[in-house]
Amino acid sequence: MSNITIVGGGLVGSLLAIFLAKRGHSVNVYERRPDPRKTDVYAGRSINLVVSHRGWTALRAAGVEEAVKAITVPVYARMMHDREGNLNRVPYSIDNKAIWSVSRGELNRRLLSEAEKLPNVKLFFDHRCVDVNLENATCHFQREEGDHVVVKADVVFGADGAFSAVRSKMMWGRFTYSQEYIEHDYKEVAFPANADGTPKMDPHCLHIWPRRWFMMMGLANQDGGFTGTLFMPHNATAQSPGFDTVREEKEVRKFFTEQFPDALPIVPDIVEQYLRNPQSSLVIIRCNPWQVNGKVALIGDAAHAIVPFYGEGMNAGYEDCKVLNDLLNEHGDDNWAEVLHRYAAARKPNGDAIADLSLRNFVEMRDLVADPKFLLRKKIEGYIQAKHPDKWLPLYSQVKFSDIAYKDAWNEGLRHDRIMEEVLAMKGVEEKWESEEVERKVLGLLKAGK
Ligand SMILES: Cc1cc2nc3c(=O)[nH]c(=O)nc-3n(C[C@H](O)[C@H](O)[C@H](O)COP(=O)(O)OP(=O)(O)OC[C@H]3O[C@@H](n4cnc5c(N)ncnc54)[C@H](O)[C@@H]3O)c2cc1C
Repeated sequence: MSNITIVGGGLVGSLLAIFLAKRGHSVNVYERRPDPRKTDVYAGRSINLVVSHRGWTALRAAGVEEAVKAITVPVYARMMHDREGNLNRVPYSIDNKAIWSVSRGELNRRLLSEAEKLPNVKLFFDHRCVDVNLENATCHFQREEGDHVVVKADVVFGADGAFSAVRSKMMWGRFTYSQEYIEHDYKEVAFPANADGTPKMDPHCLHIWPRRWFMMMGLANQDGGFTGTLFMPHNATAQSPGFDTVREEKEVRKFFTEQFPDALPIVPDIVEQYLRNPQSSLVIIRCNPWQVNGKVALIGDAAHAIVPFYGEGMNAGYEDCKVLNDLLNEHGDDNWAEVLHRYAAARKPNGDAIADLSLRNFVEMRDLVADPKFLLRKKIEGYIQAKHPDKWLPLYSQVKFSDIAYKDAWNEGLRHDRIMEEVLAMKGVEEKWESEEVERKVLGLLKAGK
């Protein structure tokens, strides 16, 4: 059995520790921040996440599905709020499938506690990785108190997020890397529950206020409240306000009054929260290779930081863990060079694909969900899927409710676009979308290999 160092005890590092410890390895997790179970390291940045199919598959394989389910809220549909406050509910699937809302802080605390139950896991907080020797898997950690800790292992995993110190060291060698900030930043606002603890909106929907160039969304917490996130350009453009132009109290109040009038009564202090809460940026990181020397590997956001619009960053990281575990089953626990090589080869194309898919879904969420043509397309896809489930699985379902490789989903999504473009161009399709004619058209295009 191997001595493993995991750098980063966040969402992915904590699950990876459970997987590897259950295989019998000796696992030491070094986390830069204090223990989140003792201090509120997530204050003001808690951000709700959705766990979906791939996440659950991995959590189940690690034996912690039930422990996590207990802190989630199922979400079955998008609820769109227009500027007039009208609502439009669009289910995520035709067969009532859910994604699951969870607080990032709660999830991290739960997984750390599950990891700590295992006798061969040790958690070290306040340990910031400052250097890694890639040849001999030795990490250097700086402690708050000033002392320096050196740890040699058989294998090191960099699960230290988008700004990974492990990856920084890998960049000293032959390494391809790109870092792209998107134009949009985000800010969190808390939506309170009613005085009796009941929710003010349907908790089983992801609430979206799409405004074409910017948007707000809200995901339910278990306490009846919601965590809202406003995504808006860093700098205003001709089409859109930006965080740089919505700054003073008067501007902020005007902005929410005009853009999100139905949110104001639900969150009476939304302006104060906006002014108080931090503004964060969104980055896409792509890199290659994900492992060196069969001794040091990247996992989770350290390997593939993506924008959050498919809600798949963590789910993809959990799938990384599951794939790694499957490869260890296949190739044995003492064959790290082979396993890490195969892990990187299997996951890298999927990391790239989910980065592309996530950007694509941003356009869908902020813009298309308010577009009647897009809503018609969703209805047609649901109709075809219901009649031919073996032939048509909408892209969203491929990503959120299946194990289909992200790269295959991306290609299939492009094919669907080509087919739907022709279907939506059919004369009178608005009236006859549920007809045999439309069905025949889709089947014909599928058969023609469109
Ligand atoms: C607004 C927003 C919404 C999102 N929504 C979703 C969603 O709905 N569903 C989803 O699946 N994903 C979502 N994501 C993505 C998700 O948050 C990330 O993919 C996930 O957190 C990645 O986990 P990780 O453990 O790889 O990285 P992180 O969660 O960033 O954890 C990295 C850990 O490493 C530690 N660390 C960093 N540097 C060092 C160092 N030098 N030494 C030691 N420790 C270090 C950090 O303190 C941290 O604890 C969202 C992201 C954002 C920004």
